[in-house]
Amino acid sequence: MLLFDVLSVIGQGSLPLGRLYEGHVNAVKLVRLYGSAANVALLQAEADAGRLTGVWMAEDAVSLSLAGDAAAPVLIGRKILASGAGHIQRPLVAAKTAGENQLMLPHVPDMGRVDVSAWTATGMKATATGSVDFTGISVTPDAIVGRPGDYMRSPYFRGGAWRVMAVQFGGLRALLESYRSQLVESGRDGDRVQRARFGDAAASVETARLWVSEACRRAEDEDGDPAAIDAYVDLMRGAFERAALTLVERAEKSLGLKAFMHPNPVERIVRDLTTYLRQPALDASLESAGAFFFHQGTEGP
Ligand SMILES: Cc1cc2nc3c(=O)[nH]c(=O)nc-3n(C[C@H](O)[C@H](O)[C@H](O)COP(=O)(O)OP(=O)(O)OC[C@H]3O[C@@H](n4cnc5c(N)ncnc54)[C@H](O)[C@@H]3O)c2cc1C
Repeated sequence: MLLFDVLSVIGQGSLPLGRLYEGHVNAVKLVRLYGSAANVALLQAEADAGRLTGVWMAEDAVSLSLAGDAAAPVLIGRKILASGAGHIQRPLVAAKTAGENQLMLPHVPDMGRVDVSAWTATGMKATATGSVDFTGISVTPDAIVGRPGDYMRSPYFRGGAWRVMAVQFGGLRALLESYRSQLVESGRDGDRVQRARFGDAAASVETARLWVSEACRRAEDEDGDPAAIDAYVDLMRGAFERAALTLVERAEKSLGLKAFMHPNPVERIVRDLTTYLRQPALDASLESAGAFFFHQGTEGP
């Protein structure tokens, strides 16, 4: 639960910073789980130099691949939607080799390979999210992490998604507090409709907290059943999204137009939060969770 607190406190201060820190934690966890002492030493050198790492997996139509001589393989292709691009020099990426995905920590110190111009999303601009071209970068043996297929292993891939929601939960807290204080400052907190709507918003934040903290407890239990952890986290993702969007809707309705005015903090948090809520395959994860819990009988999750 310490990690839940750390991620949510950072997210409460800044969702972009929370996104970067969560990516760093994810990379370090995976390298410690699957990697060698040599891999850990590479990340230690980055930390000593004051740099974060991150997990860059998103791709366009062409997958990043490892090609050439087995003794001196080189990467071909790029990653997109990579947060911390231009700062992170040792990202954890997967590249296709012999038809399988292999994790590795390539060295990308060259800023000329980075393009953040495609990040035109309304929020999360401070994450420096962009594309990074890896073509021609050679990968040394100490940078190869684990065995092919490790990245997708249960419960660390799907089950690990709780950490993203822990950061987002911090954003929910910040939004609720900003919404509350502005209602009080405007003297509208005595209105019965406003009070009821705020109660609904507060209940949504508590719903989100209960889901994420329980997902954290289950996912961090080393004796947990991997399939059950994946299913619970999958179920949580959809419930969390609904709670978050309910809060956004209540805050905007209660505050009115000023919630849309820059530099109102509600405007910024909503912009960052609604962008960050877009996470991969939300419908598919709910479907997988539904399939799992069909067979659980009346016991439920
Ligand atoms: C702020 C931010 C930072 C990010 N940083 C990183 C990073 O550092 N590294 C990284 O790897 N990625 C990063 N990403 C990208 C992230 O991992 C996802 O790729 C991205 O958020 C996917 O969002 P999406 O809504 O387009 O997802 P999608 O999965 O495309 O979902 C969009 C909609 O389509 C539905 N859908 C999904 N698949 C299908 C299908 N096959 N057929 C029909 N419908 C489908 C979904 O259920 C959903 O309704 C970042 C994203 C954000 C927002």
